Amino acid sequence: MTKFTDLGLAEPILRAVLAEGYTIPTPIQAKVIPIMLAGRDIVGIAQTGTGKTAAFVLPLLHNHSQMHGRPGPKACHALILAPTRELAAQIAENIRGYGQFIQHSVVVVVGGVRPAQQIKALSQGVDIVVATPGRLEDHIANGKFRLDKTKTIILDEADQMLDLGFMPAIRRLMAKVPKPRQTLLLSATMPKQIRQLAGDFLDRPVEISVAPQSRPIERITQQVYFSEKPGKRALLASLLSAPDVQHAIVFTKTKHGANKVVQNLEKAGIAASAIHGNKSQRQREHTLGAFRAGTINVLVATDIAARGIDVDDISHVINYELPNIAESYVHRIGRTARAGKSGVAISLCDGAERKFLFQIEKLTGIKLQRMNVGDTPSTKDDTPDERLHEPPKHKRPPKKKKHKQRSNRPSDKGKPKPKPVGAETTNKPAKPKPNRKRRPRRSTSNTG
Ligand code: AMP
Repeated sequence: MTKFTDLGLAEPILRAVLAEGYTIPTPIQAKVIPIMLAGRDIVGIAQTGTGKTAAFVLPLLHNHSQMHGRPGPKACHALILAPTRELAAQIAENIRGYGQFIQHSVVVVVGGVRPAQQIKALSQGVDIVVATPGRLEDHIANGKFRLDKTKTIILDEADQMLDLGFMPAIRRLMAKVPKPRQTLLLSATMPKQIRQLAGDFLDRPVEISVAPQSRPIERITQQVYFSEKPGKRALLASLLSAPDVQHAIVFTKTKHGANKVVQNLEKAGIAASAIHGNKSQRQREHTLGAFRAGTINVLVATDIAARGIDVDDISHVINYELPNIAESYVHRIGRTARAGKSGVAISLCDGAERKFLFQIEKLTGIKLQRMNVGDTPSTKDDTPDERLHEPPKHKRPPKKKKHKQRSNRPSDKGKPKPKPVGAETTNKPAKPKPNRKRRPRRSTSNTG
Protein backbone atom coordinates (compact mmCIF):
# COMPACT_ATOMS: atom_id res chain seq x y z
CA MET A 1 0.00 0.00 0.00
CA THR A 2 1.32 3.47 -0.92
CA LYS A 3 2.39 5.63 2.01
CA PHE A 4 2.60 9.42 2.05
CA THR A 5 6.37 9.11 2.46
CA ASP A 6 6.55 7.19 -0.90
CA LEU A 7 5.12 10.09 -2.88
CA GLY A 8 8.11 12.44 -3.02
CA LEU A 9 6.62 15.27 -0.97
CA ALA A 10 8.86 17.64 1.00
CA GLU A 11 9.23 17.02 4.74
CA PRO A 12 7.29 20.09 5.99
CA ILE A 13 4.33 19.00 3.86
CA LEU A 14 4.46 15.44 5.20
CA ARG A 15 4.53 16.93 8.70
CA ALA A 16 1.37 18.93 7.95
CA VAL A 17 -0.37 15.84 6.53
CA LEU A 18 0.45 14.00 9.74
CA ALA A 19 -0.83 16.94 11.78
CA GLU A 20 -4.15 16.66 9.87
CA GLY A 21 -4.35 13.07 11.08
CA TYR A 22 -4.03 11.40 7.66
CA THR A 23 -2.16 8.12 7.71
CA ILE A 24 -2.47 6.80 4.16
CA PRO A 25 -3.15 8.61 0.88
CA THR A 26 -6.55 8.10 -0.71
CA PRO A 27 -6.51 6.45 -4.20
CA ILE A 28 -6.74 9.80 -6.02
CA GLN A 29 -3.89 11.20 -3.92
CA ALA A 30 -1.68 8.15 -4.57
CA LYS A 31 -2.26 8.58 -8.32
CA VAL A 32 -2.28 12.36 -8.78
CA ILE A 33 0.59 13.44 -6.49
CA PRO A 34 3.53 11.71 -8.30
CA ILE A 35 2.22 12.68 -11.74
CA MET A 36 1.74 16.29 -10.73
CA LEU A 37 5.22 16.35 -9.18
CA ALA A 38 6.54 15.06 -12.54
CA GLY A 39 5.07 18.18 -14.15
CA ARG A 40 2.44 16.49 -16.33
CA ASP A 41 -1.02 17.86 -17.10
CA ILE A 42 -3.85 15.85 -15.53
CA VAL A 43 -7.53 15.21 -16.15
CA GLY A 44 -8.90 13.81 -12.89
CA ILE A 45 -12.35 12.28 -12.67
CA ALA A 46 -13.19 12.28 -8.99
CA GLN A 47 -16.04 13.29 -6.76
CA THR A 48 -16.04 15.36 -3.60
CA GLY A 49 -15.22 13.16 -0.64
CA THR A 50 -12.41 11.26 -2.39
CA GLY A 51 -9.67 13.52 -0.98
CA LYS A 52 -9.25 15.31 -4.33
CA THR A 53 -8.40 18.69 -2.76
CA ALA A 54 -5.29 17.39 -1.00
CA ALA A 55 -4.42 15.47 -4.19
CA PHE A 56 -3.67 18.74 -5.99
CA VAL A 57 -2.87 21.03 -3.05
CA LEU A 58 -0.05 18.88 -1.59
CA PRO A 59 2.05 18.73 -4.81
CA LEU A 60 1.24 22.37 -5.51
CA LEU A 61 2.68 23.32 -2.12
CA HIS A 62 5.65 21.00 -2.67
CA ASN A 63 6.44 22.72 -5.99
CA HIS A 64 6.03 26.07 -4.31
CA SER A 65 8.44 25.09 -1.52
CA GLN A 66 11.10 24.42 -4.19
CA MET A 67 10.59 27.82 -5.88
CA HIS A 68 12.39 31.05 -5.13
CA GLY A 69 11.13 34.59 -5.53
CA ARG A 70 7.72 36.20 -5.71
CA PRO A 71 5.66 36.33 -8.89
CA GLY A 72 5.77 40.16 -9.08
CA PRO A 73 3.04 42.74 -8.43
CA LYS A 74 -0.58 41.86 -9.27
CA ALA A 75 0.43 38.33 -10.33
CA CYS A 76 0.34 34.80 -8.92
CA HIS A 77 2.32 31.59 -9.42
CA ALA A 78 -0.70 29.29 -9.20
CA LEU A 79 -4.39 29.81 -9.86
CA ILE A 80 -7.18 27.52 -8.66
CA LEU A 81 -10.64 28.12 -10.14
CA ALA A 82 -13.69 26.86 -8.26
CA PRO A 83 -17.43 27.15 -9.01
CA THR A 84 -18.63 28.57 -5.68
CA ARG A 85 -17.45 30.94 -2.99
CA GLU A 86 -17.76 28.24 -0.37
CA LEU A 87 -15.61 25.78 -2.29
CA ALA A 88 -12.99 28.50 -2.93
CA ALA A 89 -12.89 29.33 0.79
CA GLN A 90 -12.65 25.64 1.63
CA ILE A 91 -9.73 25.07 -0.74
CA ALA A 92 -7.88 28.09 0.70
CA GLU A 93 -8.45 26.73 4.21
CA ASN A 94 -6.92 23.41 3.13
CA ILE A 95 -3.94 25.22 1.60
CA ARG A 96 -3.34 27.04 4.90
CA GLY A 97 -3.56 23.74 6.80
CA TYR A 98 -1.32 21.67 4.50
CA GLY A 99 1.05 24.64 4.08
CA GLN A 100 1.33 25.50 7.77
CA PHE A 101 5.04 24.61 7.89
CA ILE A 102 6.11 26.39 4.71
CA GLN A 103 6.13 30.05 3.77
CA HIS A 104 3.34 30.76 1.36
CA SER A 105 0.64 33.31 0.59
CA VAL A 106 -2.88 32.55 -0.54
CA VAL A 107 -5.67 34.95 -1.51
CA VAL A 108 -9.34 34.12 -2.10
CA VAL A 109 -10.98 36.11 -4.91
CA VAL A 110 -14.76 35.69 -4.96
CA GLY A 111 -17.88 37.77 -5.54
CA GLY A 112 -20.25 38.91 -2.81
CA VAL A 113 -17.61 40.89 -0.90
CA ARG A 114 -16.09 44.31 -1.53
CA PRO A 115 -13.27 44.13 -4.07
CA ALA A 116 -10.96 46.64 -2.29
CA GLN A 117 -9.46 44.15 0.16
CA GLN A 118 -8.81 41.62 -2.60
CA ILE A 119 -7.16 44.28 -4.77
CA LYS A 120 -4.87 45.24 -1.88
CA ALA A 121 -3.99 41.60 -1.18
CA LEU A 122 -3.20 40.99 -4.87
CA SER A 123 -1.19 44.17 -5.38
CA GLN A 124 2.13 42.82 -4.03
CA GLY A 125 1.78 39.53 -5.85
CA VAL A 126 0.75 36.23 -4.22
CA ASP A 127 1.81 32.60 -4.44
CA ILE A 128 -1.62 31.00 -4.83
CA VAL A 129 -4.95 32.57 -5.82
CA VAL A 130 -8.18 30.63 -5.31
CA ALA A 131 -10.98 32.26 -7.28
CA THR A 132 -14.39 32.05 -8.80
CA PRO A 133 -14.19 33.12 -12.46
CA GLY A 134 -16.46 36.20 -12.47
CA ARG A 135 -14.68 38.30 -9.85
CA LEU A 136 -11.26 37.29 -11.16
CA GLU A 137 -12.17 38.54 -14.62
CA ASP A 138 -13.32 41.84 -13.10
CA HIS A 139 -9.93 42.36 -11.46
CA ILE A 140 -8.12 41.54 -14.70
CA ALA A 141 -10.36 43.90 -16.71
CA ASN A 142 -9.66 46.69 -14.20
CA GLY A 143 -5.91 46.17 -14.44
CA LYS A 144 -5.69 44.91 -10.84
CA PHE A 145 -4.49 41.41 -11.65
CA ARG A 146 -2.67 39.58 -14.43
CA LEU A 147 -1.99 35.98 -15.32
CA ASP A 148 1.24 36.32 -17.32
CA LYS A 149 3.38 34.95 -14.45
CA THR A 150 1.10 32.02 -13.66
CA LYS A 151 2.77 28.63 -14.00
CA THR A 152 0.01 26.33 -12.73
CA ILE A 153 -3.73 26.47 -13.29
CA ILE A 154 -6.19 24.08 -11.65
CA LEU A 155 -9.90 23.84 -12.46
CA ASP A 156 -11.80 22.19 -9.65
CA GLU A 157 -15.32 20.79 -10.12
CA ALA A 158 -15.22 21.70 -13.80
CA ASP A 159 -18.63 20.14 -14.48
CA GLN A 160 -20.26 22.39 -11.89
CA MET A 161 -18.60 25.40 -13.45
CA LEU A 162 -20.14 24.32 -16.74
CA ASP A 163 -23.57 24.01 -15.07
CA LEU A 164 -23.25 27.51 -13.66
CA GLY A 165 -22.43 29.00 -17.07
CA PHE A 166 -18.75 29.74 -16.35
CA MET A 167 -17.34 27.93 -19.38
CA PRO A 168 -16.77 31.05 -21.57
CA ALA A 169 -15.06 32.84 -18.65
CA ILE A 170 -12.86 29.80 -17.98
CA ARG A 171 -11.78 29.67 -21.61
CA ARG A 172 -10.91 33.36 -21.56
CA LEU A 173 -8.89 32.94 -18.35
CA MET A 174 -7.07 29.81 -19.58
CA ALA A 175 -6.10 31.62 -22.76
CA LYS A 176 -4.34 34.26 -20.65
CA VAL A 177 -2.02 31.81 -18.86
CA PRO A 178 1.19 31.54 -20.89
CA LYS A 179 2.99 28.33 -21.82
CA PRO A 180 4.85 26.45 -20.53
CA ARG A 181 2.40 25.84 -17.72
CA GLN A 182 0.96 22.91 -15.81
CA THR A 183 -2.79 22.45 -16.09
CA LEU A 184 -5.09 20.23 -14.03
CA LEU A 185 -8.76 19.68 -14.61
CA LEU A 186 -10.86 17.91 -11.99
CA SER A 187 -14.46 16.95 -12.53
CA ALA A 188 -16.94 14.50 -11.09
CA THR A 189 -18.35 13.82 -14.56
CA MET A 190 -17.01 14.26 -18.09
CA PRO A 191 -19.64 15.89 -20.29
CA LYS A 192 -18.66 16.69 -23.87
CA GLN A 193 -17.88 20.34 -23.19
CA ILE A 194 -15.40 19.40 -20.44
CA ARG A 195 -13.69 16.91 -22.75
CA GLN A 196 -13.42 19.65 -25.37
CA LEU A 197 -12.01 22.05 -22.81
CA ALA A 198 -9.35 19.50 -21.82
CA GLY A 199 -8.56 18.86 -25.51
CA ASP A 200 -8.16 22.57 -26.20
CA PHE A 201 -6.12 23.62 -23.17
CA LEU A 202 -4.25 20.63 -21.73
CA ASP A 203 -1.03 19.21 -23.11
CA ARG A 204 -1.12 15.39 -23.44
CA PRO A 205 -2.84 15.03 -20.06
CA VAL A 206 -2.67 11.87 -17.98
CA GLU A 207 -6.23 10.74 -17.27
CA ILE A 208 -6.88 9.58 -13.74
CA SER A 209 -10.20 8.24 -12.62
CA VAL A 210 -11.15 6.95 -9.23
CA ALA A 211 -14.36 5.38 -8.15
CA PRO A 212 -15.61 6.54 -4.76
CA GLN A 213 -14.42 4.00 -2.15
CA SER A 214 -17.94 2.84 -1.53
CA ARG A 215 -20.79 4.69 -3.13
CA PRO A 216 -21.94 6.96 -0.29
CA ILE A 217 -25.53 6.43 -1.39
CA GLU A 218 -25.28 2.84 -0.17
CA ARG A 219 -24.50 4.06 3.32
CA ILE A 220 -27.52 6.37 3.45
CA THR A 221 -30.85 5.31 4.90
CA GLN A 222 -33.40 6.89 2.61
CA GLN A 223 -36.92 7.52 3.83
CA VAL A 224 -39.98 9.37 2.60
CA TYR A 225 -42.99 10.79 4.47
CA PHE A 226 -46.06 11.65 2.44
CA SER A 227 -47.41 14.95 3.66
CA GLU A 228 -49.26 17.82 2.05
CA LYS A 229 -47.76 21.28 2.35
CA PRO A 230 -49.56 22.48 5.51
CA GLY A 231 -48.50 19.37 7.43
CA LYS A 232 -44.82 19.67 6.50
CA ARG A 233 -43.97 22.35 9.06
CA ALA A 234 -44.96 20.36 12.13
CA LEU A 235 -43.52 17.17 10.64
CA LEU A 236 -40.16 18.83 10.04
CA ALA A 237 -40.00 20.20 13.59
CA SER A 238 -40.84 16.78 15.01
CA LEU A 239 -38.25 15.00 12.81
CA LEU A 240 -35.55 17.48 13.81
CA SER A 241 -36.37 17.01 17.50
CA ALA A 242 -35.40 13.32 17.37
CA PRO A 243 -32.39 12.58 19.60
CA ASP A 244 -30.27 11.08 16.80
CA VAL A 245 -30.36 14.32 14.76
CA GLN A 246 -27.00 15.96 15.44
CA HIS A 247 -26.28 18.05 12.36
CA ALA A 248 -28.97 18.41 9.71
CA ILE A 249 -29.28 20.20 6.39
CA VAL A 250 -32.82 20.97 5.27
CA PHE A 251 -33.23 21.64 1.56
CA THR A 252 -35.84 23.95 0.10
CA LYS A 253 -36.48 24.84 -3.51
CA THR A 254 -36.33 28.61 -3.08
CA LYS A 255 -34.48 31.22 -1.02
CA HIS A 256 -37.79 32.58 0.25
CA GLY A 257 -38.82 29.05 1.24
CA ALA A 258 -35.55 28.62 3.16
CA ASN A 259 -36.20 31.81 5.15
CA LYS A 260 -39.76 30.69 5.97
CA VAL A 261 -38.58 27.29 7.17
CA VAL A 262 -36.05 28.97 9.47
CA GLN A 263 -38.77 31.21 10.92
CA ASN A 264 -41.05 28.24 11.56
CA LEU A 265 -38.29 26.22 13.18
CA GLU A 266 -37.37 29.11 15.41
CA LYS A 267 -41.02 29.36 16.49
CA ALA A 268 -40.82 25.67 17.37
CA GLY A 269 -37.70 26.36 19.48
CA ILE A 270 -35.17 24.85 17.04
CA ALA A 271 -32.09 26.97 16.30
CA ALA A 272 -31.64 27.11 12.53
CA SER A 273 -30.08 29.39 9.97
CA ALA A 274 -30.47 29.79 6.21
CA ILE A 275 -27.73 29.78 3.60
CA HIS A 276 -28.58 30.91 0.09
CA GLY A 277 -27.59 33.26 -2.68
CA ASN A 278 -29.18 36.35 -1.10
CA LYS A 279 -26.95 36.13 1.95
CA SER A 280 -23.71 38.09 1.97
CA GLN A 281 -20.42 36.24 2.05
CA ARG A 282 -19.92 37.35 5.65
CA GLN A 283 -23.35 35.99 6.66
CA ARG A 284 -22.67 32.67 4.93
CA GLU A 285 -19.30 32.26 6.62
CA HIS A 286 -20.79 33.17 9.98
CA THR A 287 -23.60 30.64 9.50
CA LEU A 288 -21.23 27.89 8.38
CA GLY A 289 -18.92 28.64 11.32
CA ALA A 290 -21.84 28.36 13.76
CA PHE A 291 -22.96 25.12 12.11
CA ARG A 292 -19.49 23.58 12.30
CA ALA A 293 -19.12 24.69 15.92
CA GLY A 294 -22.51 23.19 16.77
CA THR A 295 -24.06 26.50 17.92
CA ILE A 296 -26.79 25.78 15.40
CA ASN A 297 -27.61 22.22 14.43
CA VAL A 298 -29.85 22.90 11.48
CA LEU A 299 -28.84 24.57 8.25
CA VAL A 300 -31.58 25.39 5.73
CA ALA A 301 -30.20 25.65 2.22
CA THR A 302 -31.02 25.89 -1.46
CA ASP A 303 -29.28 23.54 -3.89
CA ILE A 304 -26.58 25.81 -5.28
CA ALA A 305 -25.73 27.36 -1.91
CA ALA A 306 -25.14 23.91 -0.45
CA ARG A 307 -22.48 23.00 -3.00
CA GLY A 308 -19.02 23.16 -1.58
CA ILE A 309 -20.22 22.92 2.01
CA ASP A 310 -17.66 20.55 3.46
CA VAL A 311 -18.87 19.37 6.83
CA ASP A 312 -18.06 15.77 7.64
CA ASP A 313 -20.58 15.16 10.42
CA ILE A 314 -23.96 15.80 8.84
CA SER A 315 -26.19 13.10 10.30
CA HIS A 316 -29.38 14.00 8.42
CA VAL A 317 -30.38 15.55 5.12
CA ILE A 318 -34.03 16.53 4.94
CA ASN A 319 -35.72 17.41 1.68
CA TYR A 320 -38.49 19.75 2.80
CA GLU A 321 -39.38 19.89 -0.86
CA LEU A 322 -38.26 17.35 -3.42
CA PRO A 323 -36.10 18.70 -6.23
CA ASN A 324 -37.61 18.57 -9.72
CA ILE A 325 -34.26 17.33 -11.07
CA ALA A 326 -33.45 13.84 -9.82
CA GLU A 327 -29.67 14.44 -9.94
CA SER A 328 -30.09 17.26 -7.41
CA TYR A 329 -31.50 14.71 -4.97
CA VAL A 330 -28.28 12.68 -5.27
CA HIS A 331 -26.18 15.84 -4.72
CA ARG A 332 -28.29 16.78 -1.70
CA ILE A 333 -28.15 13.46 0.10
CA GLY A 334 -24.41 13.22 -0.63
CA ARG A 335 -23.95 15.91 2.08
CA THR A 336 -24.39 13.13 4.61
CA ALA A 337 -22.48 9.83 4.88
CA ARG A 338 -19.17 11.55 4.16
CA ALA A 339 -15.72 10.35 5.13
CA GLY A 340 -16.89 6.75 5.45
CA LYS A 341 -19.77 7.52 7.83
CA SER A 342 -23.42 6.59 7.45
CA GLY A 343 -26.34 9.00 7.30
CA VAL A 344 -30.08 9.44 6.98
CA ALA A 345 -31.91 11.22 4.16
CA ILE A 346 -35.56 12.02 4.73
CA SER A 347 -37.86 13.44 2.07
CA LEU A 348 -41.20 15.11 2.64
CA CYS A 349 -43.33 14.51 -0.41
CA ASP A 350 -46.67 16.12 -1.23
CA GLY A 351 -49.07 15.06 -3.95
CA ALA A 352 -47.56 17.35 -6.57
CA GLU A 353 -44.08 16.01 -5.84
CA ARG A 354 -44.84 12.32 -6.34
CA LYS A 355 -43.69 12.52 -9.92
CA PHE A 356 -40.30 13.78 -8.69
CA LEU A 357 -40.11 10.89 -6.22
CA PHE A 358 -40.71 8.48 -9.06
CA GLN A 359 -37.90 10.04 -11.12
CA ILE A 360 -35.50 9.91 -8.15
CA GLU A 361 -36.23 6.24 -7.54
CA LYS A 362 -35.78 5.51 -11.22
CA LEU A 363 -32.42 7.31 -11.32
CA THR A 364 -30.98 5.78 -8.16
CA GLY A 365 -32.61 2.38 -8.56
CA ILE A 366 -33.37 2.55 -4.83
CA LYS A 367 -36.84 2.57 -3.38
CA LEU A 368 -37.19 5.01 -0.51
CA GLN A 369 -38.53 3.53 2.68
CA ARG A 370 -42.13 4.70 3.22
CA MET A 371 -42.58 6.15 6.70
CA ASN A 372 -45.54 7.08 8.87
CA VAL A 373 -45.49 9.91 11.35
CA GLY A 374 -44.20 8.27 14.51
CA ASP A 375 -41.13 6.98 12.71
CA THR A 376 -42.20 3.43 12.00
CA PRO A 377 -41.80 2.06 8.49
CA SER A 378 -45.05 2.29 6.58
CA THR A 379 -46.90 -0.91 5.90
CA LYS A 380 -48.85 0.79 3.14
CA ASP A 381 -46.73 0.43 0.08
CA ASP A 382 -48.15 2.49 -2.71
CA THR A 383 -45.24 2.32 -5.14
CA PRO A 384 -44.75 -1.20 -6.45
CA ASP A 385 -41.16 -1.97 -7.44
CA GLU A 386 -41.94 -2.61 -11.08
CA ARG A 387 -43.14 0.97 -11.41
CA LEU A 388 -39.53 2.04 -11.07
CA HIS A 389 -38.91 0.78 -14.55
CA GLU A 390 -41.97 2.18 -16.20
CA PRO A 391 -42.83 5.73 -17.12
CA PRO A 392 -45.14 7.44 -14.61
CA LYS A 393 -48.82 7.07 -15.33
CA HIS A 394 -50.28 10.51 -14.92
CA LYS A 395 -53.56 11.67 -16.20
CA ARG A 396 -52.38 14.30 -18.58
CA PRO A 397 -54.57 17.36 -19.15
CA PRO A 398 -55.81 17.56 -22.73
CA LYS A 399 -53.18 19.06 -25.00
CA LYS A 400 -53.69 22.69 -25.84
CA LYS A 401 -53.49 23.64 -29.46
CA LYS A 402 -50.20 25.30 -30.31
CA HIS A 403 -50.31 28.84 -31.55
CA LYS A 404 -48.03 28.57 -34.51
CA GLN A 405 -47.85 32.30 -34.98
CA ARG A 406 -46.46 32.95 -31.53
CA SER A 407 -43.46 30.64 -31.85
CA ASN A 408 -42.53 32.33 -35.10
CA ARG A 409 -42.82 35.84 -33.79
CA PRO A 410 -39.45 37.49 -34.17
CA SER A 411 -39.94 39.27 -30.84
CA ASP A 412 -39.99 35.87 -29.07
CA LYS A 413 -36.68 34.72 -30.47
CA GLY A 414 -34.45 36.86 -28.33
CA LYS A 415 -36.40 36.22 -25.14
CA PRO A 416 -34.45 34.42 -22.44
CA LYS A 417 -35.62 30.93 -21.56
CA PRO A 418 -37.30 30.70 -18.17
CA LYS A 419 -34.84 29.65 -15.45
CA PRO A 420 -35.29 26.13 -14.15
CA VAL A 421 -36.41 25.97 -10.55
CA GLY A 422 -33.39 25.98 -8.26
CA ALA A 423 -31.15 27.70 -10.80
CA GLU A 424 -30.00 30.23 -8.26
CA THR A 425 -26.37 31.13 -8.77
CA THR A 426 -24.07 32.23 -6.01
CA ASN A 427 -21.58 33.73 -8.40
CA LYS A 428 -22.97 35.31 -11.46
CA PRO A 429 -20.83 34.86 -14.54
CA ALA A 430 -19.53 38.21 -15.73
CA LYS A 431 -21.20 38.00 -19.12
CA PRO A 432 -24.55 36.59 -20.29
CA LYS A 433 -24.37 32.93 -21.20
CA PRO A 434 -23.36 32.61 -24.86
CA ASN A 435 -24.36 29.73 -27.07
CA ARG A 436 -22.24 26.83 -25.85
CA LYS A 437 -22.14 25.26 -29.28
CA ARG A 438 -20.09 28.13 -30.66
CA ARG A 439 -16.40 27.41 -30.40
CA PRO A 440 -14.48 30.33 -28.95
CA ARG A 441 -11.85 32.04 -31.06
CA ARG A 442 -8.41 30.86 -30.14
CA SER A 443 -5.78 33.34 -29.18
CA THR A 444 -2.86 33.02 -31.56
CA SER A 445 -0.04 32.90 -29.08
CA ASN A 446 -0.89 31.13 -25.90
CA THR A 447 -3.74 28.71 -26.12
CA GLY A 448 -3.28 25.01 -26.46
P1 AMP B 1 -12.32 16.24 -0.56
O1 AMP B 1 -12.64 15.13 -1.51
O2 AMP B 1 -11.11 16.98 -0.94
O3 AMP B 1 -13.52 17.13 -0.35
O4 AMP B 1 -11.97 15.59 0.89
C1 AMP B 1 -12.94 14.91 1.65
C2 AMP B 1 -12.52 14.77 3.11
O5 AMP B 1 -11.47 13.79 3.24
C3 AMP B 1 -11.98 16.05 3.74
O6 AMP B 1 -12.67 16.25 4.96
C4 AMP B 1 -10.51 15.78 3.99
O7 AMP B 1 -10.08 16.41 5.19
C5 AMP B 1 -10.46 14.27 4.13
N1 AMP B 1 -9.18 13.65 3.66
C6 AMP B 1 -8.43 14.02 2.59
N2 AMP B 1 -7.35 13.22 2.45
C7 AMP B 1 -7.40 12.31 3.45
C8 AMP B 1 -6.56 11.20 3.83
N3 AMP B 1 -5.48 10.86 3.14
N4 AMP B 1 -6.93 10.49 4.91
C9 AMP B 1 -8.05 10.82 5.60
N5 AMP B 1 -8.89 11.84 5.30
C10 AMP B 1 -8.58 12.58 4.23
